[in-house]
Amino acid sequence: MSITVAIDGPAAAGKGTISKAVAAHFGFAHLDTGLLYRAVGAKTLAGFEAIAAAQSLQAEDLDASNLRSAEVAQAASKVAVIAEVRAALVDFQRAFAQRSGGAVLDGRDIGTVICPEAQVKLFVTASAEVRAERRYLELAAKDGDVTRADVLADVKARDARDMTRAEAPLKPAEDAVLIDTTDLDIAAAIAAAVRQVSSAI
Ligand code: C5P
Repeated sequence: MSITVAIDGPAAAGKGTISKAVAAHFGFAHLDTGLLYRAVGAKTLAGFEAIAAAQSLQAEDLDASNLRSAEVAQAASKVAVIAEVRAALVDFQRAFAQRSGGAVLDGRDIGTVICPEAQVKLFVTASAEVRAERRYLELAAKDGDVTRADVLADVKARDARDMTRAEAPLKPAEDAVLIDTTDLDIAAAIAAAVRQVSSAI
């Protein structure tokens, strides 16, 4: 079975958790496409030029230990506005989507640009305040110095950059199903996503 599930949405809306659960439920492969941009962003923080870094990205670059940090998240959203960076990452994502056995890709432009033919398109969102609180709890567990105000400002800055860029801006595909997790617990959000995939199969 070759089925592609595209899951887009802003930072910390729950799309990573939902994507992993959907992939596990149906036995599909999962690609967190944000990791590609984070790996390129991390390279720029290490002094590399963004386009060259994207064009020479290696599988082991995705294993770098700092990719989940707030600093790398901001660097990722800065390199993500560069058309040549995005272009360098397209083929890998499309090849992944074509894998036999089904694939879930999550990101910002999967349903709109990378896989407009995906059989299932979900747009997972939540209020900025709720998303920032979730991200704060995640980051605070690792770094005692992080503040709620900083995390909310980071989330809003990244939302603005991702939604207003010229190239592949963050927006729902016209035929995407919206899942708003502001008042939804994770089990209910996963159940909603699984229902959409089940009805497409
Ligand atoms: O999803 P995550 O927070 O890891 O993504 C980091 C950044 O990478 C996003 O803020 C966005 O700028 C960029 N990104 C993107 N397109 C994708 C996935 C991520 O532009 N498909």
